[in-house]
Amino acid sequence: MEEERLIPLSALQHYVYCPRQCALIHIERFWAENYWTAQGRVLHQRTDEGKPEQRANTRIERSVEVISHELGVQGVLDVLEIDLRDMTFTPVEYKRGKPKVTNCDRVQLCAQALCLEEMRGVKIDRAALWYWEVRQREWVELDAALRAETLDVISQVQALFSSQRTPRAVYGKHCLACSLRDECQPKAMQEDRVDQYLRGMLEP
Ligand code: SF4
Repeated sequence: MEEERLIPLSALQHYVYCPRQCALIHIERFWAENYWTAQGRVLHQRTDEGKPEQRANTRIERSVEVISHELGVQGVLDVLEIDLRDMTFTPVEYKRGKPKVTNCDRVQLCAQALCLEEMRGVKIDRAALWYWEVRQREWVELDAALRAETLDVISQVQALFSSQRTPRAVYGKHCLACSLRDECQPKAMQEDRVDQYLRGMLEP
């Protein structure tokens, strides 16, 4: 029987941020630690150290392993809050920075919720992102649009992993905070492509 190849949930976040970053980390196994990733790691270690606890009517579980065989994804959720009065499940993912323009964090969070729905037979209507830099909780509605986007990203990442090909760099604002900027050299790659294009135009 063919071994099941599950996609790490973090790959979804990396892919929405930048497909090349996703491939460098998960296909080429590149990882560069910079100030931001180190800070994020320490933040996650803090949540990892906690044990389950109960506060008033809420049970709090930490570092919850989640998996969906149906979707082919797996990972760890930072915190799961369960309201014991009505058994409402609220997944919470901790992030180092602040709310982002793209849906990269929301897609990862939605995939975590989809795993929980499959594992625990519940329906989860909303989840939350907690941003350390601004000390702010952002509520995320798990509506049909976000669920569809998440499923789409999962199939795109599956296709990327099957191809085993790293996409070319597309330089943009997102490169400024990318931990792999030194290794990727996105500007140089882009200039190289422009050079190649111009040479192609000038050659007979
Ligand atoms: S530097 Fe830019 S193009 Fe390169 S991996 Fe990072 S975000 Fe992607």
